[in-house]
Amino acid sequence: MINSEKLNNTVPDNAILLKLKSIVKSFWYAGNNVECLCCGWKGRKFLELNGRENVQCPRCFSLERQRLTWSYLQKKTDILTNKHAVLHFAAIGPEKIIGDRLKKIKNLSYLSVDISNKQAMEKMDITNIKYPDGFFDVIICVHVLEHVADDKLALKELYRVLQPGGWAIIMAPLDKTLIQTIQDISLTDPLEQKRKFGLEGHIRLYGIDYKNILELSGFKVKIENYAAEFTPEQVKKYSLDISDDIYICTKHQSKG
Ligand SMILES: [Zn+2]
Repeated sequence: MINSEKLNNTVPDNAILLKLKSIVKSFWYAGNNVECLCCGWKGRKFLELNGRENVQCPRCFSLERQRLTWSYLQKKTDILTNKHAVLHFAAIGPEKIIGDRLKKIKNLSYLSVDISNKQAMEKMDITNIKYPDGFFDVIICVHVLEHVADDKLALKELYRVLQPGGWAIIMAPLDKTLIQTIQDISLTDPLEQKRKFGLEGHIRLYGIDYKNILELSGFKVKIENYAAEFTPEQVKKYSLDISDDIYICTKHQSKG
């Protein structure tokens, strides 16, 4: 069984072994019940992850949020057709497939960054982005902020490097029953992080104030319940999470 926890957070160094496992899994899961919106794989079901059935694509390792995000990018934005400088944070693990797809789009100037993972094109701290103001037209930052001690500073930096008129998808795990975000940035014990915030490496869990937190840095935020546009049959077929919202953050034209 593929170590899904590891896949969820890092790209394993042994890419050949991983590829081999992926091929075996693809055969094992042969069928036509489900289809991956990221890579087109079809099978009997997706892989189990953290005790949840039917979650991860055995070919590209996408999870529900990547399949939803990639579909959104294709159907609801101009990323396939317009010229954009794109900054993509932590395009590793399950997020890598989105980076791989974006890299192939000729009208895009694409840059993937990560604070430590070598598979990203550049090493970069989200709280200290080494690019000038307004350098990027599009930013994709999915499930990163919950790892960052100073998330307010990270958002300030994202806002700064986004071109006025540009847009960003900034998503994080959130608990809709929490009125206020909870965090403990001093917490280092992985098991405690998982117990309190849902996964190892997480130092906070956002609540319904997440939109306000994004807006504090200057973004105009629109919450798109894009998953609701799929029929129940499609949600099942593509294994989407209907509670996943897409947070579209825009920078006003007149602001610097
Ligand atoms: Zn896939």
